Amino acid sequence: MDYYRQTSLKDYNSFKTEALAKIFCQPKNVKELRECLSEHSAEQKLIIGGGCNLFFTRDFDGLVIHPCIKGLRETWDEDDEDIFIEVNASENWDELVAYCVEQGFAGLENLSLIPGTVGAAPIQNIGAYGVEVKDVIREVVALDMETNEVISFSNVECEFAYRDSIFKRTNKYIVISVVFHLKRTFSYSPKYFDLNKELEDIEDPTIQDVRDAVIRVRERKLPDEKILPNAGSFFKNPYITKEQTEEILKDYPDLPAYLQKDGMMKTSAAFLIDKSGYKGIRVGDIGTYPNQPLIIVNYGSSDGNDIVRFMREIQAAVKDTFNIELEPEVRIY
Ligand SMILES: Cc1cc2nc3c(=O)[nH]c(=O)nc-3n(C[C@H](O)[C@H](O)[C@H](O)COP(=O)(O)OP(=O)(O)OC[C@H]3O[C@@H](n4cnc5c(N)ncnc54)[C@H](O)[C@@H]3O)c2cc1C
Repeated sequence: MDYYRQTSLKDYNSFKTEALAKIFCQPKNVKELRECLSEHSAEQKLIIGGGCNLFFTRDFDGLVIHPCIKGLRETWDEDDEDIFIEVNASENWDELVAYCVEQGFAGLENLSLIPGTVGAAPIQNIGAYGVEVKDVIREVVALDMETNEVISFSNVECEFAYRDSIFKRTNKYIVISVVFHLKRTFSYSPKYFDLNKELEDIEDPTIQDVRDAVIRVRERKLPDEKILPNAGSFFKNPYITKEQTEEILKDYPDLPAYLQKDGMMKTSAAFLIDKSGYKGIRVGDIGTYPNQPLIIVNYGSSDGNDIVRFMREIQAAVKDTFNIELEPEVRIY
């Protein structure tokens, strides 16, 4: 396997921020992955998939691993409704969704058009249109970077939560493959207002209708990161107390707030940013996307510190207006 020194990471993050990796490699299988870990055991490590959920504020003084581990394996029992697909980490996420929809394997269709790789999907438990990837993950196979051991995590052991998992919290594992539990029959169950509306004229939507509708809604609302660099939703939707919610509702009666199992209310970061005056605002080369203020877009800076400065401005405005701290969803290095 080749190692590259002082490699530019600009094309490995969808925000297009510039940074150099001290060492960069692209292992094609577990053997090469183990080899690069043991040859560089003293270096700090960073795994990059599609780079659609991270950006850089400085050079990375260590080993950047960009896995290129491809492949897919299906297993099912004849006459059975369940299908299990093991997919290697470097497969493209949306190509997998398209494949499953074509085959009539149900479960991933609401997660259409999310950019990135399969291996990153469990890291922040990707979600959209009422579905989180944890709903269809049976198992995650990962390499422990400290012991070089391959470990299989059951769904429960992944400790999935809203945009969170054991992998995100510990930074100790490289995901090698994900086993999905999908169904061979499909019937549409309404989960999300925008999507239901898009499908209202179709009597009994097929799995392909749902994928097409998700793609149309996303293309209307979200910027294409290849044209206007961004990393999707920049902040997590915050959880607030019922008392806090009631207080805000006095001044903002249209505040979206959804009761959670633990009694907290989940509210909309996009709403808070909008009402704090940051919808469609641009400061220098960084701004919020006019159609969706939760997305920070980069109009031309290669310095991730510009994004961080703008992020802090938004956080301060929301804190000032609502006394709520916004936490970034995007990883900053
Ligand atoms: C336009 C746009 C829309 C988006 N919409 C959504 C959305 O609807 N829902 C949603 O949840 N997200 C969304 N995202 C965020 C992003 O697409 C997801 O987080 C995706 O899973 C990132 O995949 P990636 O391969 O690019 O990960 P990267 O950005 O490369 O990595 C993300 C994190 O995972 C780690 N990582 C990556 N691969 C591995 C691996 N194999 N093993 C261990 N760690 C790894 C990285 O170190 C990093 O910390 C959007 C992004 C964009 C640009």
